[in-house]
Amino acid sequence: MDRGEDHPPDANSGSTVDARDAFALLGHEIRLDILFALLEDWMAVYTEPKSYAELMAAVGLEDSGKFNYHLSKLQGVYVEKVDDGYVPTASATALYRTVLATRPTETVEFEQPVTEAACPDCGGQPVLEYERGFVAVACQACDSWDGFTYPFPQNGFEQHEESLLEAVQDRVRHEIGLARTGQCPACAGQIAVDPRIESVDGDDHWIELGCESCTFVVGVEPLSTLLTDDRVGSALREIGIDPTGHGWERPDEEVSVSRDPVRLEIAVATEQGTVTITATERLAVERVAVG
Ligand SMILES: [Zn+2]
Ligand SMILES: [Zn+2]
Repeated sequence: MDRGEDHPPDANSGSTVDARDAFALLGHEIRLDILFALLEDWMAVYTEPKSYAELMAAVGLEDSGKFNYHLSKLQGVYVEKVDDGYVPTASATALYRTVLATRPTETVEFEQPVTEAACPDCGGQPVLEYERGFVAVACQACDSWDGFTYPFPQNGFEQHEESLLEAVQDRVRHEIGLARTGQCPACAGQIAVDPRIESVDGDDHWIELGCESCTFVVGVEPLSTLLTDDRVGSALREIGIDPTGHGWERPDEEVSVSRDPVRLEIAVATEQGTVTITATERLAVERVAVG
């Protein structure tokens, strides 16, 4: 089961203070005009800088004192001066992309039956829902089965209407696969892997992957984190499991732990065989066996 959720960053950490300052800089019409003018012809590293005069004209200001004041406020955080003028910083473009992706001023209500699946508990038809930025697949008939919950940008709804569930699953697999290697999919920071070895319980075990810098945190079954590993992927295919398929279509995985050194053993079986994966405490794959 995937449990994607957000948690607030530590209120006392330095990064929170910096983030407050950065947000506070945006609370002015002229600064927003400057930023949007700079983002207009964005071509990544090939973006043509806008000259001081061009930028001032684009914003429609004639008072250079006023323009200067607001430009200087943005400079360093959202605007960078280069040889031929000004360009937006990585923070400006990342913030812009995030707002476009999550569309915070729109409300999408969504509910769709998942025709290709059946609830493992009652056989009913699961439903895909969207709330507060999270996609959830669950059974409403028995209320006892949760397929998964994971954050998904609101922008993706219109763009992937035909194959929404596949789009969500692809995103989950790639993001969790990246997080497992130690890199946060949201901010590229360090991911802390908590294998929760004290609570290993056979076929019902989840681990936590949490970013040390931003709000990214997920709780997942160990095998879900290993699906992007080539050896794991081809071993699963050998026993008839599609690593790109829906998580609930895979048989339950059995998890056991050995100590000194700590190793997780994850086994999954079908009629065609058993795949056994040995992974370190930080979920590095050490050995994959098909038997
Ligand atoms: Zn059910
Ligand atoms: Zn992060």
